[in-house]
Amino acid sequence: MPDEYLKYLLSLNERQREAACSDISIPLMIVAGPGSGKTSTMVGRVLMLLNEGISASNILAMTFTTAAAAEMRDRIGAVAGKATAKQLTISTFHSFSLQLCRSHAEKLERTPEFLIYGHGQQRRAIIEAVRLSEDEKGRQNRSVAIVGEEYNSITSPHHYKDASKKWQKFVTQAKASGKTPDECRKMGDETGGKILGNYNDILKSCNALDYHDLISCSVKLLTDFPEVLKECQDLWKAIVIDEFQDTSAMQYSFLRILASHNHITIVGDDDQSIFSFNGADISGFDSFRRDFPNYKEIRLNKNYRSTRYIVEAASSVIKNNKKRCQLKNVDTDNSSGSKVIIKESHNEDAQCAFVVDKILETASNRSDAGCSYGNIAILYRRQVSGKVFQTALRERKIPFNIHGVAVYRKKVVVRAIIAMVKTTLPDCDDGSYRQVFKALLPFEKEEKKKVIEYIDKISAHRKCSFISAACDIFSAKLSGTLKRTQLTQGRKVLLTLEMISKLVHREQSISAVITSVANMVPQKYLLEQRAVVDVDGGKLLNEDNDIRSVLQYLLDDISDFLSTHFVAGQGEREVVKEKGCVSLLKAFIDCISERESENFRSRRHDNQSSVTLTTIHQSKGLEWDIVFIIKVNESEIPLLHEFNGVAKENGTSIEEERRLLYVAMTRARRKLFILYVTMDSNWQMLQPSRFLKEIPNHLREVQADISTQDLQSKNPDTSKGTTWSTADLQPNVQPSEVDSVQNDFHHSKFDEASAELIEFAEGNSGNGFLKRFCVDER
Ligand code: ATP
Ligand code: MG
Repeated sequence: MPDEYLKYLLSLNERQREAACSDISIPLMIVAGPGSGKTSTMVGRVLMLLNEGISASNILAMTFTTAAAAEMRDRIGAVAGKATAKQLTISTFHSFSLQLCRSHAEKLERTPEFLIYGHGQQRRAIIEAVRLSEDEKGRQNRSVAIVGEEYNSITSPHHYKDASKKWQKFVTQAKASGKTPDECRKMGDETGGKILGNYNDILKSCNALDYHDLISCSVKLLTDFPEVLKECQDLWKAIVIDEFQDTSAMQYSFLRILASHNHITIVGDDDQSIFSFNGADISGFDSFRRDFPNYKEIRLNKNYRSTRYIVEAASSVIKNNKKRCQLKNVDTDNSSGSKVIIKESHNEDAQCAFVVDKILETASNRSDAGCSYGNIAILYRRQVSGKVFQTALRERKIPFNIHGVAVYRKKVVVRAIIAMVKTTLPDCDDGSYRQVFKALLPFEKEEKKKVIEYIDKISAHRKCSFISAACDIFSAKLSGTLKRTQLTQGRKVLLTLEMISKLVHREQSISAVITSVANMVPQKYLLEQRAVVDVDGGKLLNEDNDIRSVLQYLLDDISDFLSTHFVAGQGEREVVKEKGCVSLLKAFIDCISERESENFRSRRHDNQSSVTLTTIHQSKGLEWDIVFIIKVNESEIPLLHEFNGVAKENGTSIEEERRLLYVAMTRARRKLFILYVTMDSNWQMLQPSRFLKEIPNHLREVQADISTQDLQSKNPDTSKGTTWSTADLQPNVQPSEVDSVQNDFHHSKFDEASAELIEFAEGNSGNGFLKRFCVDER
């Protein structure tokens, strides 16, 4: 065994080493609490696999977020060398199954360029499926119009829109559990079976799959096609899975089939399961025990990450969950450290000021172990809560990185979408037009280049703008050496731009514009850009170019932008009405460009020397010396979600929310600050999260807001000493079911946008865009 491997294995404790070095042909399950070295042990396991002669390219490591994948590659690279780490396949489930489905698309009755339907497109297909099932004749009348290679054909009276919500839930659930239309019918659900069948037919006719299909189709490939199974088994000789608790039943089936060679290691902690809105199902641990009966189970129980106060505070919160599969005694030999600080602020600005001051104070205090910015993280439930921190950190010149965002903005696809939107603004530059042609012309690279060069040549020759030259060329005035197909496609690009321009001028929401525009980017272009990207020197199967994740980031950016640039509480439509869509889009694009250059600058500081801003979901598996969890209020954690105006409490969801806080708390090594605010930006009173009361007094130090203290000292009833009065208040609103909490924020935008797009596509015609630019500029 190489010295480095040996050294690493010797650095593990006895139990960890036993796990890492156990017989590789025996399925291994490691269950343990946070910070107990699960991932470290998994790294040891990979070293063992390599040492036993399994080549790095035959090892598949699965995890749940791209950040965790990058982290794992780093850890392995540090011992086995970067070159070996690069050969490993470290992937998230979705990108892995996407890759598999694309490689065998024809077996799924698709072409390799199949589309992936996100929430909005799925909704449209469902409206169509409902319509078809209600109107048998509709089947013959159905017409499919293609807009920028996108399915887009539905007449959508309100009736269908309302029904579609219900059916979308039905279809999603049916798919997550792997139900077929026939199975629905057999269970007596004739209508459900019909709608699911219609929906599947529509997706097939549009060469599309939705997100649930990716996993179920992967399972299908392995079960129905022995040659695919053999190919996969020959390639993936060993599989390791981190964060196993987040695996859905369908994902688990996939792993079970793939891992019949028994070289499988699963690592997880049921208390950290926070993706149930995605179908994650912790019963996977039991299924594993059942399906791999000769498995070996190892439990780790020493927390190496956090100080005693943090470990105990986190344990005291999670122990209130009733549904825990495996009770774990987590202990630590680390020092007690300082108590968990629970800080009250009267509003988000005050909260932000406190955090920023603390960061500066820590950074200037050289004796403090957490003095470098890279050891500090600010965690929040929703991306939007981090916005105010970006502004404040920027003002105070503190370098920061936002997880995921820096990478996404560099995406060519994002640039293409932005360029397409920019063409509607008065001062659009030639570069953006050029980028649009690159994205929209459906040719191979060389041919594309030739067409674009020709436009450049004409524009230089006539001393006019790129777009004027393009308009002249494609209206056949100056077709020159271009072929007929090139002219036709060029004209199509102009028509798409015209459509976008119309959209912007009649649209009431910039999210809707961006969503519609994103849907016009051809799949071919997305595939072209889908190359494997290098993140921090490692190979990650890339799902970031997938239009859905890109869109989610963009929509996040829009809500961040609106929330900081405009009066809080004002709806987007009101703002658009007041300012106009064009000027708002312009401001938004300026804002993105500004941040992009900033990210570029701050990348030079890299993640080691900048404060991390991230959602709790994205923080899984990671750790920092000092962690601030912000806005730990009722309505954030747990997140309130109302149905028909009535907030309902759902035990399961509350437990998941508690796990979310648990994950956040256990990211901290040395100091943990939990913050809540007493008032929102509309002066509405907010309650601290109910979970804060679960941290016993002796583990926490409560710091009330100074303004509240003032009030308390003036009020004889509250001056008796407790600074914890707010936390002891009962929340006056009951939390409720939190299904799909992560996504509902985005989904509402998707829905709006799709409805708008449908209406738009119906009324689209004309040639205003061409007219605008065909005026001779000479
Ligand atoms: P999570 O549940 O949050 O993913 P984990 O169980 O995967 O946590 P790791 O991230 O592997 O835990 O380890 C937590 C920290 O403890 C890391 O900083 C790691 O280097 C350290 N650590 C793990 N095992 C040991 C050990 N045997 N001796 C010293 N430090 C250790
Ligand atoms: Mg881990």
